Order: sequence, then C-alpha cells, then structure tokens
Amino acid sequence: MRSPQLDPLFAPVTALGGIGPKMAPLFDRLLTDGKRPARVLDLLLHLPYATVDRRRRAVLAEAEPGVLTTFELRVLSHRAAPPGRRGAPYRVVCEDETGDVTLVFFNAGRARMESLLPPGEIRFVSGSIELYDGRRQIVHPDRIMDGAAFEKSPLVEPVYGRTEGLSRNMVHKAATAALTRLPALPEWTDPALVARENWPRFDEALKALHRPETPEAIAAETPARLRLAYDELLASQAALLLVRARMKRETGLSRRGDGRIRNALLSALPFTPTESQRRAADEIADDLARPERMLRLLQGDVGSGKTLVALMAMATVVEAGFQAALMAPTEILTRQHFERLEPLVRAAGLRMALLTGREKGAARAAVLEGLASGAIDIVVGTHALFQEDVAFARLGLAVIDEQHRFGVHQRLALSRKGEAVDVLVMTATPIPRTLVLTYFGDMDVSVLREKPAGRTPIDTRVVPLERLSEVEDAIGRALSSGRRVYWICPLVAESEELDVAAAEERFTALQARFGAAVGLVHGKMKGRDKDAVMERFATGEIAVLVATTVVEVGVDVPEASVMVIEHAERFGLAQLHQLRGRVGRGSARSTCLLLYKPGSGETARARLETMRSTEDGFVIAEEDLRLRGEGDVLGTRQSGMPGFRLAVAQRHAELLATARKDAERLLSSDPDLETERGRAVRHLLHIFERDEAVRLLRAG
Ligand code: ADP
Ligand code: MG
Repeated sequence: MRSPQLDPLFAPVTALGGIGPKMAPLFDRLLTDGKRPARVLDLLLHLPYATVDRRRRAVLAEAEPGVLTTFELRVLSHRAAPPGRRGAPYRVVCEDETGDVTLVFFNAGRARMESLLPPGEIRFVSGSIELYDGRRQIVHPDRIMDGAAFEKSPLVEPVYGRTEGLSRNMVHKAATAALTRLPALPEWTDPALVARENWPRFDEALKALHRPETPEAIAAETPARLRLAYDELLASQAALLLVRARMKRETGLSRRGDGRIRNALLSALPFTPTESQRRAADEIADDLARPERMLRLLQGDVGSGKTLVALMAMATVVEAGFQAALMAPTEILTRQHFERLEPLVRAAGLRMALLTGREKGAARAAVLEGLASGAIDIVVGTHALFQEDVAFARLGLAVIDEQHRFGVHQRLALSRKGEAVDVLVMTATPIPRTLVLTYFGDMDVSVLREKPAGRTPIDTRVVPLERLSEVEDAIGRALSSGRRVYWICPLVAESEELDVAAAEERFTALQARFGAAVGLVHGKMKGRDKDAVMERFATGEIAVLVATTVVEVGVDVPEASVMVIEHAERFGLAQLHQLRGRVGRGSARSTCLLLYKPGSGETARARLETMRSTEDGFVIAEEDLRLRGEGDVLGTRQSGMPGFRLAVAQRHAELLATARKDAERLLSSDPDLETERGRAVRHLLHIFERDEAVRLLRAG
C-alpha cells in the first residue's frame, strides 16, 4: 500500500487552486502519456529547462541590445495605430533619467494598454532592447509590472516546457502551487552519500529547481539535479533487483522437452538454422530444463532470425506440457508473427491462437476459453495479453519481442499469469553490455551474431534531398524490374499528425507518378486498414509502400529490396539501422537511399557515414552511443533515457553504478524493505512509478 503521506503528491492537478476542468486536459497532455490524469507529482517532476533572469538591471543608456534586461521606466505617452492601418503597431514611449525607449505592441487595444502602462507612472519592464533607425525599442516586453508586483515576483523565473494553450505563466503558477503540497519525506538515499555529495533533501531539491535563485541553479550538474537523477536511478535499480530477487526466490519449474515437436518443426523449415540460432536455442533449452526461473535476453540484429529461436523455446515448453505466450509491441508485428508461425506450427501439430485488442466478442471468448482450458498451446498477442480476464491453464514461458517498448512491469504482469513462468526477452537493438544492466537488470544473454546464409550486402547511399527527382527516376527503374520499395517519411515534429501529413503528401506525389502501385501506411490508420495495406505490399499488389516509422519494428517482406529514407538526418542511428534491416532479407541485391538535408550538421553527417560504411548492428550501436548517448541507442524520440524522467544518460551515467551498488547493499541487508531506510525507499519506488516492485514485496 502507498503510504498516505504521499497522497498529496498523487492528487490530480485539479486539486491545486486555479486548475479547473478546462485547463486540466492541457496539463494531462503536457505531463502524461494521455492515458491518465496529470497529478501534482507530475508537475513537480516537470523541471524548468531555462530561466529568465530579471536581476539584470540597467539604465537605458547603458543597456546591451539583445539581452533580456529589466528597466525601471516612467510612462510618457501612448500612440495607437492609426485607424484603418491594420498591422501597424501600438506604441508607448517611456523614459528613465538616461534616455527614452518605445515599447511596441501588435494587436493591442488602447484600454488594455492604458491600464497596463498608465501615463505618468513608474513600471518595471523586462525585455530586450533593439535599435531601430537609431532609436531604442522593445517589441513585446517579456513582463510589465508595477512596483508592488515587481517586489513579489521572483528575480529568476523558471521557464517550463509547455503545450499549446498553456502559457508559461500558467505552468509556472501550477508548479509553484504544487510545491506547497510537497511533504517532507524521510531520506531514502544513503545518508553517507548525501553528506559526501552535499545533496539537498528531495523536497529541498525540487524547491531549488522550481524556484531557482540563479540561472545556474537548474543546470544538470547542480547538487539538486544530481540528487533527483540519482533518486530516479536508485528507484530503477532497486526495482530491477526486487524483480530479480522475486523471480529467483520463487522456485522455478524444470521444463524439459523430449524434442518431439522441435524435430517436427525443424523438418518443416524451408531452411537450416544458423549456428547461432542452434546455440541460442540450446542455451534456452538448458535454462528451461533447470529448476530455476529463466530470465534471458536474446539479442540479435534485425533479420538474424530471432523468431525461430523463440519458436523452438515455445515448442520445448509445450513438449514439457505447458503453454507459451509470445508478445509483440504492435498489431502489425503480432499478426505477422502469427501468420509466419502458422504453417510451421500446424505442421508440428500445435494449436496456436492470436489475441490482440481487435479480437472481440465470440472470437475473443473462444481464445480466452482455449487458454484457460489448455486447449491452446501457444498464443501470440499484444498488450491485450496482460488483461485481467486472460487466464492460462499452465503458462510456462513468456516471450517478449522488442522489449524496450515494454517496461519491467509489463514483463512481470505477463509472467505472473502462470506459476514460475520462464521469461525470454528479445531485442533487435544490439545493446552494449553496460546498458543491458540499466534497462533489463541482470539477465542472461544469448546473442545471434551471424546472419542467415544467402543474404547479400545492402548498397547504402547517402543522397542530398535536392536530388529527389533523380531518386524518383531510380525508383521508376526499380519498379519496372519488379522490385518492391519502402519509402519512409520523416519525423517532422513531436507530433504524429504532422508526420502523417508529410507521409500523405509524399504518397500523393508518388502516386501521381506511379499510380496504383503506391500504397500508404501510417500510425493514425485503423489497425485493419494498416494490415490490409501491408498485406497488399507483401503480396506485391502494391510495389511502393510509403510509411511513417510504423514499419520500424520487425515487419518482414523479403521481396522488398529498396529502402528510401527521407530526411535520414532526423532519425537516430538505431532507427536507421532497424529501417534498413527491412531490406536485404531476400536473395536480391538491396539498396538503401538515405536522403538528407545538406547543412544539417557534423553529427548528422557522421551518423549517415556510419550507416554507409557498416551493416554490423553492434558497431552501429557503439558509434551511436559515442555520437549521441543512450537515448538514441534505444531508438527513442526524446533525448532522455527511455523510462526515465529526470536522469539524462550522458550526464548522469556515473551515478548509475553508484545507485546499483547502493541498491544491492540495501537489499542484501533488508530484502523486504522493512528497516527505516527500506520504508523510505518504498516511497521512492512509488514516486518514480516502480510500484510493481513494491507490490512484489507485499506478495512475497
Ligand atoms: P528478426 O531477428 O529480425 O526477428 P526474423 O526472425 O523475422 O528476424 O527472421 C528474418 C527472416 O529470416 C525471416 O523471413 C525468416 O524466415 C528468415 N530466416 C530465419 N532464420 C533463417 C535461416 N537460418 N536461414 C534462412 N532464413 C532464415
Ligand atoms: Mg523480429
């Protein structure tokens, strides 16, 4: 149970004065994934990224142009825009003892202006001076306050990330209100460390960042920031260790197969497994046979054939009399897994079902029934597998594909649907060993380094966007020789709508040229429509598939041999690598065209050059880590670490090792978090949403 001490933090933002039902959805959008209402805690963890410094004061004659400065001015006169001249500004002339300045406003009405700047009175005006025809002016001052308001206002004002409809001031006000609800909590971080690093308490750290006294106070290296980043890392490490301990504590079950189904599968395969695939499958079979729980990560580049390894693992478990579940992050990928596995599974006499958000009514009921009775051996599904009403007769193995899209708690949620469920996590991102620890905790690792035979290298070219029409010509030639083409459209902004608009535009342009051979798939389409388009691409009915990054994860169309990536400079290396991995799967020689906007910077160039020079995912991952830091290695849009709100990979990396050791020490002496510090750490786990780990404590 969460301690009632934390309740004020978990109250919705509407509990704060001034945030009503109109504004609440804006805060939800700003602070959450949109699936739950924003809470006071979310506001507190939404740290300012910059400041406005009003301590910088000057007289007009000495003001430095272009630098935000605060002036104490007397208002002289108002000059409204002449009637009929729309677009002409409203001007207010002010002075101090050293000179005068014109304040310039667009779309301003006289009444509002005169109450804001009454002639003859003194006002504190913050803004940047510009020289216009040799005269000083300030266009749209940042702030105008009378003496009383100026007295009360913070001299250093924090600036927050915000969303459309929420002003800077509204976010600031809300954050300030949230601070008043912040309880003083018992210290969860090792007191010796806190003392050594001279860190403030958790609540003091938040106050220091939301009410900065200097612009430097919010920097990533300040004790307050470091402390909060550390707290978050400690929460994540403690949670991973708790999960691990719990999984190990629960005695596992030995699941030893007799090879019957695996042999049937192998003889139904149209190819021979690679050496790496065999080795990984053996490692997994050994784990399964052992009476401990398996917690294994299968790493393998795109196209390295992880699915077959997963299938062998599932077959082993079925041989031993259990069920297996394979979970994938998207509807498309889930369906593709299902369709690919179907003929093999049928040949081996297994019963397999599909469960996604789209299976409804009688079809869904039939699957649930089959899982509960044990009539179904293998289920392939999306998040839908986590749902309460999904129950298994004897779930023995959970395979989770493309894990970094799921959190630890989801891994747990699935593995709790059976007794001592073994877990296999698969990722196509070649994650350097140091990072495996951060994201997955201690897992055993199998790696597929080798690619299936018969793959030809991909010819990768880096082409400036200006040569788009030549690229289109080349696509025309590729089409007439029967090739299939992916055309990936860029991420325009942090907005799916804009991405989609860009893709639609490209689709229209290509369609104008190549007609019905062009199809479009994007994230805003209904699942069914997406699948239909993918299906037509897979069968060859469509030869050019224009897509946003929905094809990123795992989709397999071996006949596709051309990959065009528009604005490749906007993608992370890991993402480019994943995308390129969609081609080069068949025996035809494949081409990847990375279209870039010239002048997009050194790092962008270096990244594209890396792509051109190698296809080795591990090399690319190391390079990515070097160039941009961990966020991109995992292919996320944000620069922070996925799953982390405050910790920034490059900046706070050293803290991770310390947090790890600290968590280990704590949990080895206090495995159930019962001591005073242990209880405090429970608070920490709630604050950083590692509640799942706390629940384990209770259950164990
Ligand atoms: P990923 O590791 O990206 O999930 P997949 O499991 O989807 O890769 O495999 C990619 C493609 O390679 C599939 O079409 C699969 O049938 C094929 N494949 C897998 N293993 C082999 C193999 N040993 N020889 C030839 N083709 C293989
Ligand atoms: Mg895959």
